[in-house]
Amino acid sequence: MHAEIKVSGIVQGVGFRPFVYRVAVENGLVGYVRNRGDAVVEIVVEGKKKDVKRFLKNLKEKKPPLARIYDMTTNYTEDKNKFKQFTILKSSENVELSGSVIPQDVSICDECLSELRDPKNKRYNYFFITCTNCGPRYTIIEKLPYDRLNTTMQDFFMCDFCFKEYNDPSNRRFHAQTVACPKCGPKVYLTTNNDESIKHEDPIREAGKLLEEGYIVAIKGNGGFHIATSTTKSEPIARLRKVKYRAQKPFAIMARDIDTTKSFAEVNMKEAELLTCYIKPIVLLKKRDDYYLSELISPGLHNIGVMLPYTGLHAMLFDKVREPAFVMTSANPPNEPIVTENVEAMKKLGSVVDFFLFHNRTIAHRCDDSVVRLHGEDQSIIRRSRGYAPEPVHLKRLADSYVLGVGAEFNVTSCVLLRNKAFISQHAGDVDNLETLGFLKSAINHLIKLTNSKVEVIACDLHPKFTTTRLAQNLGEKLECSVVPVQHHHAHIASLMGEHDVDEMIGIACDGFGYGSDGNAWGGEILYCNHDGFQRLGHLQEQPMVGGDLATLYPLRVAAGILYGEADIEEWLLLNSDRFPHGRREVEVIVKQLGKGSTPKTTSCGRVLDAVSAILGICYERTYEGEPAMKLESAALKGKDVLKLTPEFRGNAIDTTLLVHEIFNQRGKHSVADLACSAQSYLARSLAELAVEEAEQLNVDFIGFSGGVAYNEYITVTIRKIVEENGFKFLVHNQVPPGDGGISFGQVVAAAF
Ligand SMILES: [Zn+2]
Ligand SMILES: [Zn+2]
Ligand SMILES: [Zn+2]
Repeated sequence: MHAEIKVSGIVQGVGFRPFVYRVAVENGLVGYVRNRGDAVVEIVVEGKKKDVKRFLKNLKEKKPPLARIYDMTTNYTEDKNKFKQFTILKSSENVELSGSVIPQDVSICDECLSELRDPKNKRYNYFFITCTNCGPRYTIIEKLPYDRLNTTMQDFFMCDFCFKEYNDPSNRRFHAQTVACPKCGPKVYLTTNNDESIKHEDPIREAGKLLEEGYIVAIKGNGGFHIATSTTKSEPIARLRKVKYRAQKPFAIMARDIDTTKSFAEVNMKEAELLTCYIKPIVLLKKRDDYYLSELISPGLHNIGVMLPYTGLHAMLFDKVREPAFVMTSANPPNEPIVTENVEAMKKLGSVVDFFLFHNRTIAHRCDDSVVRLHGEDQSIIRRSRGYAPEPVHLKRLADSYVLGVGAEFNVTSCVLLRNKAFISQHAGDVDNLETLGFLKSAINHLIKLTNSKVEVIACDLHPKFTTTRLAQNLGEKLECSVVPVQHHHAHIASLMGEHDVDEMIGIACDGFGYGSDGNAWGGEILYCNHDGFQRLGHLQEQPMVGGDLATLYPLRVAAGILYGEADIEEWLLLNSDRFPHGRREVEVIVKQLGKGSTPKTTSCGRVLDAVSAILGICYERTYEGEPAMKLESAALKGKDVLKLTPEFRGNAIDTTLLVHEIFNQRGKHSVADLACSAQSYLARSLAELAVEEAEQLNVDFIGFSGGVAYNEYITVTIRKIVEENGFKFLVHNQVPPGDGGISFGQVVAAAF
């Protein structure tokens, strides 16, 4: 029997051909296997019918751990008797629309890790040790098929030893494109911030010691540079905050191992699983009561972002030191994407760090670390990047056209939908500047190239002035395809519908800002959504934003707007005038503006949380996205809902004035924790009640919660309880970020169906 098989999925760069080779030989078959230019693997086998059948069964059942089979087609014909043995052929350039994709970057595997530690092994102490089961993929590949010459490993010629392993079917590195050793592979070296090289036989462990001593070191990884320093000393972190202009934004850390992590953070079983899985994302963990790392790592927050070493280099950093963890934050100048090139790093980071730990392998595509948080058992992805991208999210239905989504303005990702697979790019960031926009464009091109697709429809945000909206229009003209604007909160809920394959839903979409279909600022929305579009059923009460965007930065301005009319509000603002950059003068202007009543309005849930945070003295200035609300959540952690306010509605608007006035008037009568908790509780309960009421009226089974506020565990849990108690099914995100990183996915879902 002669069988021709095409396998699509994640089948290149995961040891699939060697595996096919082994299974074919075991079953006594002849023929060949090869990679194609569209990330598909093509197999031809000949042999007895029962052997071919068993071979096909083995393919599905015994596939390598990182391989994913999306589709497998088999054509049978008569034997052609062309083959004498089974071979792995050179890749073909054949290409068709397949939906196949190369794998994500994979953290170092246990076998490589133990070889790294084995003095008898040729790769003993070699930082770039990898095999078919581990190492960089997405960040290393320039084009398909996944062959060494199409990756940035092309600069390194294999030595005899590596070449022998590469060609040995019984070896773990058989056709592993990243195979390398100290003799032939990438080299690592240490320099000062003046580009003077520091001769040291063990530069990585020396860098580890420098970190422990309190120096700041830029470390080149697989997808970009990190900036690292000690976690137990506050001085270098304070210095880093100053030079990086990051007053408060939490830094991620890399801990030595899981046991060490448990010494400063609470780690449940699910969190331990996430920390140690092959993705190795940053996991937000609760600080233990006896937390002993520097408070400057995540000031004012109850949690800390922790990841474990995911390359040989990372593991070696800890060898000669006692430091439990290192700060390990993406090295990006303000508002720019993560730095990937050595010369660029020296130029842009030279004034920030004391030393550089470089290697001489080029990074083809940058990729930040992913960030995940758990709500009980449910994972909530905050940043879906390294280890996830470009593995697609699978939809249950097929799209007729090929759609590209370009995201909104902040935390942007892009997404391409090909039939039933949505490929979400790595995190690009805030595209309000040229560098990040350039990164987004290259990520889009990379994704289109890797999925080998032709764009037919482009979906973007409804905001006419977003950079991504203009990008979509330009791309639309260039590619001659239609551009579909999707309202921001509709996209949030559409992404939930896509993730859960639901045809209609009452969606609660809460975030900081999204452009409404009436041109106003939305952000606390109850929507009915189906595949025809959406209807706005309710929202938080409109509140003034004195000074527009300034009110986002200084939440006391929002508070002032909501409280205006209280007898002693002006007096209170003047008491707090040092919380405004321009003091008394600014307060006077604010009061005057409010008197005129001509301020822009918003229904944003984020702004209400911000206002409460400022009134309670938790956070007066937003130095990073979500800061006042995140700190409010941390402050509320040990509190109770003491106020138990009854939800009030004005028509289809949830009364938030009542809430903010109550919080203001109860200051000092209850603890900050209790009042913070009461505020979160009121918002959650009123949103849930309104959604339940609408779901009952419209006879809809599903109620979903999306938007950046959905990261808040207390609010999510409270809404879930009410929704489920009333007999409805509650949906939250599991694979796609609830925040704006999930917008591109929602846009393609809304535009495609
Ligand atoms: Zn390995
Ligand atoms: Zn070698
Ligand atoms: Zn949003």
